[in-house]
Amino acid sequence: MSIALVWFRQDLRCYDNPAFASACNQHEVIIPLYIYDEQALPIKGAQKWWAHHSLSALQKKLQEHGLPLVLRRGNSSELLVQLVSEYNIDAVYWNRCYEPAAIARDKSIKAMLKNQGINVVSSNGSLLNEPWEIKNKSGDYFKVFTPFWKHCLQHISVLQPFINQGNPQSIDVPSDQLTDWNLLPKLNWAAEFGQHWQPGEEGAQKKLEAFIENGLQGYKGARDFPALDATSKLSPHLHFGEISPWQIQRAVDCAAQNKEIDFGSIERFLAELGWREFSYYLLYHFPTLPEANFKSQFDAFSWNNDAELLKCWQKGLTGFPIVDAGMRELWRTGYMHNRVRMIAASFLIKDLLIDWRLGAAWFSTTLVDADLASNSASWQWVAGSGADAAPYFRIFNPVLQSEKFDPNGEYIRRWVPELAELSDKWIHQPWQAPKGELGLTLSSGYPAPIIDHAKARALAMTNYQMIKKDEA
Ligand code: FAD
Repeated sequence: MSIALVWFRQDLRCYDNPAFASACNQHEVIIPLYIYDEQALPIKGAQKWWAHHSLSALQKKLQEHGLPLVLRRGNSSELLVQLVSEYNIDAVYWNRCYEPAAIARDKSIKAMLKNQGINVVSSNGSLLNEPWEIKNKSGDYFKVFTPFWKHCLQHISVLQPFINQGNPQSIDVPSDQLTDWNLLPKLNWAAEFGQHWQPGEEGAQKKLEAFIENGLQGYKGARDFPALDATSKLSPHLHFGEISPWQIQRAVDCAAQNKEIDFGSIERFLAELGWREFSYYLLYHFPTLPEANFKSQFDAFSWNNDAELLKCWQKGLTGFPIVDAGMRELWRTGYMHNRVRMIAASFLIKDLLIDWRLGAAWFSTTLVDADLASNSASWQWVAGSGADAAPYFRIFNPVLQSEKFDPNGEYIRRWVPELAELSDKWIHQPWQAPKGELGLTLSSGYPAPIIDHAKARALAMTNYQMIKKDEA
């Protein structure tokens, strides 16, 4: 009787899961395992809520296959060694992870298990192309998105789903109780999350179907308007591996053939998946991306890490409605629209002159889709310090961005109810509104702007000129 252990990590799904399918197809007994290794790879903030519900959904899915999920908490390496010897395991299967700490962990565990004569099978469960597969003509890694993605598109083969065709049995292995891990927050600040999200593979499938049905057509034009429900909201599902990117690609290809969907939207949506790939690619080739400026001249940048200003930004009390709406959407739902992420991040970095790493840290605690690769790459992109980043001197004006992308103030009214009665004309800059405009004055509780944008812009440019000089 051959026994395999399937170690689930960032691939919390049964369908189209290469590690799970290959193990089921080749072994008579399967032990599905999830390890909560708080020391090595802690789960933070909002993602604890997601992880709890996603693991609960995975437990149910595996039960449908007659395979109870074994939950263990502690050091991955020690727990695996113990299980492998206790249950005479022949092989261990997993899908690869790409965060530097996970790569180091997996390398050492693989070597150790192989030493003990255990077969270790690792697969790609989450990327269209793995980072080492894509190189430019000189054999180096790409640092610019467009040629990277063009190259990727030539190399992507649309994979067929990995299907479990075996009928493996389970054996009795003691497991922790999920509720004992206390992943759900004690203060129920995540109370509203459940109205917006269904963690787990079924939730991911529903989001994909809804997007293909209602969102893909017109995505290119609508994706920048935060009041519209015009993007896929697949990011947390992709982060936790509840859906594979090639399933999304297959669905898009299929929709493109069967329906009259504009090519620009298809191209644009796939390119967004491309940005996810590029982020993983950068993190793999530049593992210090979460801490270090990709462009080292930014090391000399003079930040003003004012704790009070940072707090106003985190709480959505900056006095700039579009920024505050985004920060409050984030707190209430664990998500923020991409356009508003860019505006809020630019505001923190270039108006408040606060180090991008402090913004990234807040996002990594509060986003349900917080992802080391995408978050670090995106923050560096906005800061101008990243690979193929927006130039530092392109400083968003939060009022103009708001007028352009939330013209009727619908998004602002949804998240900043103090301003709901204000007219479209003043909702983007309430401090300019005539006193008593529709009965509202700034005494409604909404703060005055915490900085003067024009002055902040000038200061940011001065600081930028200093590092440009250093570079020269
Ligand atoms: P869609 O528009 O439907 O896009 C489809 C998928 O493409 C997304 O689910 C996501 O996986 C990927 N994607 C889209 N845009 C990007 C991008 N710019 N970079 C990388 N992948 C992208 N995304 C995360 O997944 N995790 C993060 O921690 C994260 N932090 C960010 C921080 C900042 C400052 C900014 C500006 C962006 C960040 N993003 C992050 C990227 C982007 O905002 C989200 O992926 C997107 O808003 C998710 O919504 P969606 O699934 O509806 O996207």
